[in-house]
Amino acid sequence: MTGEYGLLEPNESDTPDDEFEQIDVSDTEADRIARKRDRKFNQFREQIKDSDRFKVDDGAFDDATFAALYKLVQDGYVDAIGGPLSTGKEANVYNALAGDRSLEMLREGEEEVAMKVYRTRATNFQDMREYLIGDPRFEELGDKKKIVMAWTRKELSNLERARKARVRVPRPITTERNVLIMEYIGTEDSRSKRLAEVQIENPETAYDVVREYIRRLYSAGLVHGDLSEYNVLFYGGELVVIDVGQAVTVHHPNAEEFLERDCENVASFFRRQGMEVSGDELLDWVHENGNV
Ligand code: ATP
Ligand code: MN
Repeated sequence: MTGEYGLLEPNESDTPDDEFEQIDVSDTEADRIARKRDRKFNQFREQIKDSDRFKVDDGAFDDATFAALYKLVQDGYVDAIGGPLSTGKEANVYNALAGDRSLEMLREGEEEVAMKVYRTRATNFQDMREYLIGDPRFEELGDKKKIVMAWTRKELSNLERARKARVRVPRPITTERNVLIMEYIGTEDSRSKRLAEVQIENPETAYDVVREYIRRLYSAGLVHGDLSEYNVLFYGGELVVIDVGQAVTVHHPNAEEFLERDCENVASFFRRQGMEVSGDELLDWVHENGNV
């Protein structure tokens, strides 16, 4: 019944345990490149600065961000940087041509990646800090730079967890400093639409899939924390959950509150699609059916 949206079969034996890998937020190679500023790096930076595509974002990249992009190109993750898919408060998302190392991690025929560049300037660090405290992966938080780097790594780590839990998310590829590389969800011609932007023909089926995604994430120890019709993409008959940077583990002091809010957002979207569902009912279902 849910097959129409390509819901994967759960793989219970692969449920991740609660041991998080240690996340290193010390000085990166990109920081060293930015400090050195040799001729090749300067050329690269000027090329990007001159490119029309980046005009929309004048001044948003600092030297260390340019250095991170430079490193991603050098390391073979990215071949060419494309135009913006989205410019937001916390991050800009660009389309890019996959390098060889990314190609190895993508499916046959896929040639593009999405590049999410977190702002190191205008970001709301106080908000970020609240999502990071209480998470055993980020015991030590330092300055702004470290917080944004930890956040970027957290999004990668959350994508990996979600994927293991069989929730359809963009395939995680790598991070470099404040830049996250992941599978691009869309076609050559256009990015995928958000659930909010499409006319859904069978809301019941879509609801079942989103509900199952919430349950699987919860069973894997995660709560999305910003789940709504804006963070679910509709792509080739699949529903793809994105924007998992703020997702917290179930041990986070506010995890239950976030879960409740996610359930309410999702239920209210589907109510507007004519379904009789409530946030409370969804929350109860997740509690009853999730295994934490
Ligand atoms: P916002 O504040 O607008 O929610 P954000 O900083 O939270 O932005 P995301 O929600 O992760 O960032 O991404 C913003 C937009 O970029 C998405 O709505 C989507 O259109 C596009 N996008 C993000 N990731 C991908 C991806 N992997 N493939 C294709 N498009 C993507
Ligand atoms: Mn978003």
